Amino acid sequence: MGLLSQGSPLSWEETKRHADHVRRHGILQFLHIYHAVKERHKDVLKWGDEVEYILVAFDHQNKKVRVVLKGEEVVEALQERGERKNPNHPTLWKPEYGSYMIEGTPGQPYGGTMSEFNTVEDNMRKRRQEASSLLKENEAICTITSFPRLGCPGFTLPEYKPTPVEEGASKSLFFPDEAINKHPRFSTLTRNIRHRRGEKVVINVPIFKDKNTPFPFIETFPQDDEAAQAAQPNHIYMDAMGFGMGNCCLQVTFQACSISEARYLYDQLATICPIVMALSASSPFYRGYISDIDCRWGVISASVDDRTREERGLEPLKNNSYRISKSRYDSIDSYLSKCGEKYNDIDLTKDKEIYERLLKEGIDPLLAQHIAHLFIRDPLTLFEEKIHLDDANESDHFENIQSTNWQTMRFKPPPPNSDIGWRVEFRPMEVQLTDFENSAYVVFVVLLTRVILSYKLDFLIPLSKVDENMKVAQKRDAVLHGLFYFRKDICKGGTAVVDGCSTPQNGTETDTEEFTLMSIDTIINGKEGVFPGLIPILNSYLENMEVDVDTRCSILNYLKLIKKRASGELMTAARWMREFVAKHPGYKQDSVITDEINYSLLWECNKIANELRECPELLGSGFKKAKYSGSKTGTSS
Ligand code: GLU
Ligand code: MG
Repeated sequence: MGLLSQGSPLSWEETKRHADHVRRHGILQFLHIYHAVKERHKDVLKWGDEVEYILVAFDHQNKKVRVVLKGEEVVEALQERGERKNPNHPTLWKPEYGSYMIEGTPGQPYGGTMSEFNTVEDNMRKRRQEASSLLKENEAICTITSFPRLGCPGFTLPEYKPTPVEEGASKSLFFPDEAINKHPRFSTLTRNIRHRRGEKVVINVPIFKDKNTPFPFIETFPQDDEAAQAAQPNHIYMDAMGFGMGNCCLQVTFQACSISEARYLYDQLATICPIVMALSASSPFYRGYISDIDCRWGVISASVDDRTREERGLEPLKNNSYRISKSRYDSIDSYLSKCGEKYNDIDLTKDKEIYERLLKEGIDPLLAQHIAHLFIRDPLTLFEEKIHLDDANESDHFENIQSTNWQTMRFKPPPPNSDIGWRVEFRPMEVQLTDFENSAYVVFVVLLTRVILSYKLDFLIPLSKVDENMKVAQKRDAVLHGLFYFRKDICKGGTAVVDGCSTPQNGTETDTEEFTLMSIDTIINGKEGVFPGLIPILNSYLENMEVDVDTRCSILNYLKLIKKRASGELMTAARWMREFVAKHPGYKQDSVITDEINYSLLWECNKIANELRECPELLGSGFKKAKYSGSKTGTSS
């Protein structure tokens, strides 16, 4: 989840003293990169996915499942066997926030040919196998977005009690610091967020009200003043970064051919974020309770919300410079392309000095305001050995701020002195239980970028409407019942959308007729006379492409999954998990996920992920791919 520097981490007070230094040099570093590579073009499409995993241990005798705190050693062993032995090793592994988490990516990025789509699932299987081979018999790696009993007593192995003391990282009543990855970045981030904010983070998720759920649902925390004040009635209360950043997601990064293509894709995909997030919904349970939301987004957002009371608008500004309307983890606040400009209707807080400086350096206002907005944030971690850097050849200070702005999309300048191009990252998706589903979502998004570019599609709507969509997307069963603002005529453009702006500029006002409320089914599958549908557009694109039979078959299966999730014919993981729990003999209709229910659910998920059990409600039937074939290119020609 970002830059992993080594060294001695500074306290919040010390980091704060260097905040202006980090920002100043971060901007210098950005300028060096920008001026060196702004003209770069003709980079080819490359892309890659990131899958986050949790490690669990099953106790079959006592019907319990716990997260295992050994992500660090598993990553170390995976790197040792893999990338360090062989630079062409097909997988890469990285630590993640939880000490029970790991993150895997393909060893090399995928390229632009269609047959690459046929290798994604093989590579994901290979990752699952590699990591599984290092585990004990009762242990497993799961691609489950949120561990249902995270933060419940004894949820880790080895077991640790939380220590809600000021000296700790989280000061949580529920989440022990030992469950945070041992790399100092993670606990320092946790502590410094809390110290910057001036209090513990507050996460309140509405509880799902079942027949026997107490009403009002009230938890009391007499031993903790902060919690007693922060916990809301009828909500599941959580108080630590781990409840959010300890969740798993599925991300995709693309290299664009030029900076303007990257900016165009960034904008177009931003509008797709809430739609795909709702389609990927898979996190209905928190701290041992059934919630009334299906997605992790708001939980992570609150879990790293480092804004002070002044910045949140609860007190008049005195020590801080701005009111800030969102957490560092949230949806994007401005479009970057020329076409996006007229839809930038969110009030953008920016560092004025930085903005002016960037303009003076010849950066256009849209990019300048984007960077100046990211740079309203303070650095959250700083290592003593990494304060003074060579701005022409290093980018740690830029990355420090950039990589702790966890937004739906990320616009990524190339690292200094590398042959990597301008990239964008698509970040909202929840991770799915199986490699098949994860491949399907990834391939869907990558194909979408191909049609956006080939057909010059235009999905832009006012950004405030995208924000409204983000809220709807997280609701229970949003995929079935949610209505989302979406652009009606996406083919209006036609010419040179990437560098110029194709939409007619008749006045600056956006025409309310340009977009309307649609269901996910309409957006994805289309509706006669209303909207053509993304899948039909992808299908027509595919018809015109040369694709080998095997790859075509895989892609069609992936699109079929997305299509059926959108229509409701197949369930999202969130819906499936809700129904599994509702039918569990141990469930008392009281919104409680007991140890036993959690065990049954995760055991079932593990069987599905390892193809030991079919799950037609979730996956459909008849579109399974042959098992991992052993070579990166699989069976494609
Ligand atoms: N795990 C985080 C999520 O679910 C993302 C962390 C990262 O940026 O890698 O969104
Ligand atoms: Mg990650």
